[in-house]
Amino acid sequence: MANIYYDEDVDLDILTGKKIAVIGYGSQGHAHAGNLKDSGLDVVVGLRPDSASREIAEKDGHQVLDTAQAAQAGDIIMILVPDEKQKKAYDEEIVGGLEAGKALAFAHGFNIHFDQIVPPADVDVFMVAPKGPGHLVRRVYNEGGGVPCLLALHQDATGKAKDIALAYARGLGGTRAGVIETTFKEETETDLFGEQVVLCGGLSELVRAGFDTLVEAGYQPEIAYFECMHELKLIVDLMYEGGIKYMRFSVSDTAQFGDITRGRRVINEKVRGEMKNILAEVQSGKFAREWIQENENRREVFDALTKKDEEHLIEQVGEKLRGMMRWIKK
Ligand code: NAD
Ligand code: MG
Repeated sequence: MANIYYDEDVDLDILTGKKIAVIGYGSQGHAHAGNLKDSGLDVVVGLRPDSASREIAEKDGHQVLDTAQAAQAGDIIMILVPDEKQKKAYDEEIVGGLEAGKALAFAHGFNIHFDQIVPPADVDVFMVAPKGPGHLVRRVYNEGGGVPCLLALHQDATGKAKDIALAYARGLGGTRAGVIETTFKEETETDLFGEQVVLCGGLSELVRAGFDTLVEAGYQPEIAYFECMHELKLIVDLMYEGGIKYMRFSVSDTAQFGDITRGRRVINEKVRGEMKNILAEVQSGKFAREWIQENENRREVFDALTKKDEEHLIEQVGEKLRGMMRWIKK
């Protein structure tokens, strides 16, 4: 079982007198900078001179510097730039600010695990990865809670990397909910697998396949939308609150009987076999190479496939129906 850390296990004092440079002010960046500052820590935000986020970060009360200056100023440099842009930002703007004894930090292991960024041996390298989107990391902190985080060490040059990483996680609010120790390898591979097979890839294709099956059989697309897409949130909320068991307790016995007798016919041995193939591509680095290459090819496949899916009937039907549900945020 994993090591899990809570507030009482962690001393924030190790960060006294240290400056934290948060590079990037997007989903994660704004949440890290805001939470750490509200925890009493010394934060500076690093952005490009032409960044649209500069004004927002300043309005939120942060000191903003150019990325290279922030990297110079920071004792701990947290890289919260999109993963596919991190290598370039590191090579051109961040590595120059590294000195022996500083710490380089990440919220996802991709670039370290797949050797896109190879930091000098005399700096600490750690990961604090919140298991939730940035707006939640900020909101839950403001409400007095925290989003659980993963913590991993890649290099411990100072002998204090773990204590520094834990203190960072505490500043972020993570230890209010629990910080689980992992490795860069485990975080990166499970994160990629999860988003490909279950969360993003598997789920969106399951929804579309169910929708298509009903529409092709002659049912109204609006009915198919409600059945295969809209109701998903209610089901997932129940699973989030109390597990699959609680979801089954809440739905009707008819629904539960259909679930337990039919679910395995949809997600069958062939599907599980394909999950293993996808995991193998993640582990071997095949997926990472394909994604790095895709970015070098100006994202031709990415753009074409995204456009194709956006033209699917479920998007048009959904847009019309959601337009009538005013409580759903745009
Ligand atoms: P994002 O796209 O929301 O924000 C990226 C920010 O980086 C923007 O403010 C952009 O202006 C800035 N930026 C781009 N190039 C820059 C440069 N050279 N110098 C300084 N700033 C630059 O990205 P995000 O979703 O917050 O992801 C950041 C990291 O957090 C990634 O490693 C990602 O895997 C990880 N992460 C994201 C989530 C999530 O839910 N979004 C969850 C956990 C971990
Ligand atoms: Mg993820």
